[in-house]
Amino acid sequence: MHNTVICPGSFDPVTLGHIDIITRASKMFDNVIVGVFVNGDKHPAFSIEERVAHLQKTVGDIPNITVMSCDGLLADCAKELGASAVVRGLRAVSDFEYEFQMALTNRKLNPELDTVFLASDAGYTYLSSSIVKNVASLGGDISNFVPACIHDEIFNRLNMKGTE
Ligand code: ADP
Repeated sequence: MHNTVICPGSFDPVTLGHIDIITRASKMFDNVIVGVFVNGDKHPAFSIEERVAHLQKTVGDIPNITVMSCDGLLADCAKELGASAVVRGLRAVSDFEYEFQMALTNRKLNPELDTVFLASDAGYTYLSSSIVKNVASLGGDISNFVPACIHDEIFNRLNMKGTE
């Protein structure tokens, strides 16, 4: 049985698509760890502390969800945290190849670690952190893309038009 799972990601910034996957996972598993990973983009729009705080504000009140920052290999972090599966969202066929490669790599590195894919909600298949960054930087409305409780914080940081 998978009692503890990890939802890893950059969450730079977190979107409603991420929140959909995380909350659905919290209904399927006893404990969900949201792992905000340091690695990846060397110039993130939001610091690791900010990204953790965004997720805390949004899903921190759900009793079986824990948000934390993680560094290094996902396969090692999962082992240390006692997570037996990784939960990832799949939006389209374009996500598949990369996700499949990561799932197989992670299982090679940690044979106990499985990956569970949840199909994206039909309303969020187009949504990504990059889309949010692009739209907000041009002053576009991102209120349908990010959680309401952190909208202003995210928009004000990303909206370059507001600072011109
Ligand atoms: P990474 O940088 O590791 O790809 P992201 O922060 O972009 O991490 O995404 C974390 C997880 O959320 C991934 O499993 C990704 O497929 C999933 N995800 C991202 N956007 C959406 C969305 N709109 N709907 C469903 N899942 C999503």
